[in-house]
Amino acid sequence: MAKLINGKEFADHLCKKIGTEVAKLKNQNIIPGLAGVRVGEDPASKVYVNMKAKKTEEIGMHSYTKLLSENITERELLDVVKGLNNDEKVNGILVQLPLPKQINTDSVINTVIPEKDVDGFHAINTGRLWTNIDALVPCTPLGCKMLLLNELKDLTGKKAIIVGRSNIVGKPMAALLIAENCTVTIAHSKTENLEEEIKKSDIVIAAVGVPEMIKGKWIKPGATVIDVGINRIERGGKQILVGDVEFEEAKKVAGAITPVPGGVGPMTIACLLHNTLVATCKKNNKEIPKFF
Ligand code: NDP
Repeated sequence: MAKLINGKEFADHLCKKIGTEVAKLKNQNIIPGLAGVRVGEDPASKVYVNMKAKKTEEIGMHSYTKLLSENITERELLDVVKGLNNDEKVNGILVQLPLPKQINTDSVINTVIPEKDVDGFHAINTGRLWTNIDALVPCTPLGCKMLLLNELKDLTGKKAIIVGRSNIVGKPMAALLIAENCTVTIAHSKTENLEEEIKKSDIVIAAVGVPEMIKGKWIKPGATVIDVGINRIERGGKQILVGDVEFEEAKKVAGAITPVPGGVGPMTIACLLHNTLVATCKKNNKEIPKFF
């Protein structure tokens, strides 16, 4: 039976360490500030932005939230972002996605200055990540990498498959694993023989958005499985959250596996706070603490 990778516990521990560093900065009159921008009333976005703001305050950072109308124009939204770029109190900016259809998401992402791009989505940070230059790294893949390193210590030579090629999870995950000396396969909806590809892999990262699509019997015995997926489904008359991996079957074969919920999810927020701390340290010429 696989070992459960407790992302919640790891994230709590990481947040505690970040909080200690925030307290040290406060003694030097530096208070990291994180601004969240939410456009419209999407229920999931509301939950995420509120959760992020609460955690930000809990560890001693300042949180600023901009709530904007669903009907905002792109020009108006870009002006809000530019205002935050110029705001000295703000060290990190996150614009909650998805944005309404009248807005070009890439324009917004690339208007956040790279130094405050704590989501790590700006083209400059993407380029820096792929060329091994110090970058702000997207939070979810960064969290997955931390869990993997904590579990396996050294990833050198491991065969890793990432199912999903999005700009926010799959692709940056690949860059991070290549840098850790893994041999990486990126799979997507057009991949042939996905089952065979997964069966060869020591590490499986599932970032698909299809409930329980990756079957337990596809997992190589002893493999480490990181399930990024968050899918709300109805089972037994109840609404529950499941991942992209068939958890109950996979845990019979895997060496270690993340549950959903309580796996990758809490790491994403912890890494957002981590990136805000890093951005604050860089701006103030302070040494960047190493947590992993
Ligand atoms: P996207 O929808 O942007 O990307 C999904 C990827 O999965 C695409 O590359 C798509 O391929 C691929 N895919 C879809 N169907 C299949 C299939 N049948 N076989 C193989 N590949 C397939 O999603 P995200 O990357 O944004 O998110 C993925 C999941 O992770 C979602 O469940 C999301 O909710 C969750 N998530 C969780 C976070 C957390 O904090 N835990 C944070 C971010 C996301 P193609 O490119 O060919 O279309």
